[in-house]
Amino acid sequence: QVRDGHQLEFGQAVYEVLESLEPALARHPEYLRSGVLERLCEPERQIIFRVPWTDDSGAVRVNRGFRVEFNSALGPYKGGLRFHPSVNIGVVKFLGFEQIFKNALTGLPLGGGKGGSDFDPKGKSDAEVMRFCQSFMTELHRHLGEYTDVPAGDIGVGRREIGYLFGQYKRITNRYESGVLTGKGLNWGGSQVRTEATGYGTVYFVEQMLRAAGERIDGRRVVVSGSGNVAIYAARKAVELGGTVVAMSDSEGYVVDEAGIDVEAVRELKEVRAGRIKAYAEGHDRARFVEAGSVWDVPCAIALPCATQNELDDEAALALVRNGVVAVGEGANMPTTPGAVKIFQDAGTLFGPGKAANAGGVATSGLEMQQNASRDSWHFDYTDDRLSEIMADIHSACQETAEAYGAPGNYVLGANIAGFVKVADTMLDLGVI
Ligand code: NDP
Repeated sequence: QVRDGHQLEFGQAVYEVLESLEPALARHPEYLRSGVLERLCEPERQIIFRVPWTDDSGAVRVNRGFRVEFNSALGPYKGGLRFHPSVNIGVVKFLGFEQIFKNALTGLPLGGGKGGSDFDPKGKSDAEVMRFCQSFMTELHRHLGEYTDVPAGDIGVGRREIGYLFGQYKRITNRYESGVLTGKGLNWGGSQVRTEATGYGTVYFVEQMLRAAGERIDGRRVVVSGSGNVAIYAARKAVELGGTVVAMSDSEGYVVDEAGIDVEAVRELKEVRAGRIKAYAEGHDRARFVEAGSVWDVPCAIALPCATQNELDDEAALALVRNGVVAVGEGANMPTTPGAVKIFQDAGTLFGPGKAANAGGVATSGLEMQQNASRDSWHFDYTDDRLSEIMADIHSACQETAEAYGAPGNYVLGANIAGFVKVADTMLDLGVI
């Protein structure tokens, strides 16, 4: 950590994992002797590159591209690409580090990686986004391959961007290598359920936590932060299971609708019209909009942070506890600060960490790779059943591991140790590489 002390998010992610590994390290000293921790914290490869592109006025712009190939013990590097102005090497390393353990928890043969750019797709024309994606892939393609490194989407990278990236990969390599990217459109090798997978999976995980505690979603109030891909489908699944989603947000603020947010209206607003969440309140009389900056003060039983890292701090956690929260499921990556996690755990709130709760997205990407490898495409219900089973298995692995290490109900410890042991044991089998 001393080596990259300025990479705050990466340091936070590493600290959180190492802290909860203590019981496993005490029981298995071979992990310390073999240098497996030091190797895990150093990416196998980090790629940083220039992405020049031309905007609609003809001016040349330059962004920075990243791909961190963190760990390939279990399979090809796998993890999304994020396009957002806040992206830097520390953010990509934090996301890639988390991805190693998340992918291990899915039970699928996937290594961990992450990438992206400080490019902001907001306010850009389709043609600008396409030219950016083509330039990005012109450099990145040499590092990718279905057996090497398989990116997907993340913040700012949805089906449109994956399409432009795949088109350029295909053109440069002259190969229709479907398995090189996931999150593709259904006509060109995509999988049913991939769009919904992270949000649905988060709710399946929360449902399992609640069931284990004798609770259920049906009849409970739910708040969801964000209104992007993960948030929309988490909200939809929560409603399908009988919950009432009363609040959602974007970076400008949150809307509250006591009668229950019309999730399909939010989906249409965001996916079709690329609008802001504020517009939902303008179009729904009973809804109110609260500008970003103030703590959410909304009674709820279930909270699903689905926007971005460190969005839920101590103050927000205390407000949720005061408002009766029973379960928190992280749809986003590391949305809860360490202090806030402790507040939930001390209050007895069920807390599902992102690397377990949001693993449904990468798990379904793994299913997309299986379909691509067998030139097959599965039906929606079959794929959704597979996702639901994987989420139930991840829940059991976290629950049983937490119990085995003397911390029943601690899903953070359970997820970290279960993911770590699988990767570390494999690294020991493969020698010092
Ligand atoms: P999207 O770009 O579709 O949506 C992101 C949402 O979060 C938007 O509502 C956005 O609001 C909000 N947001 C982003 N940055 C900030 C910020 N700095 N402050 C406040 N709000 C912000 O991304 P996804 O839904 O795909 O990703 C959301 C989270 O889920 C990320 O942490 C991602 O890593 C994680 N995740 C995603 C997976 C996937 O399959 N997509 C898989 C696993 C995890 P605005 O539009 O105003 O920027």
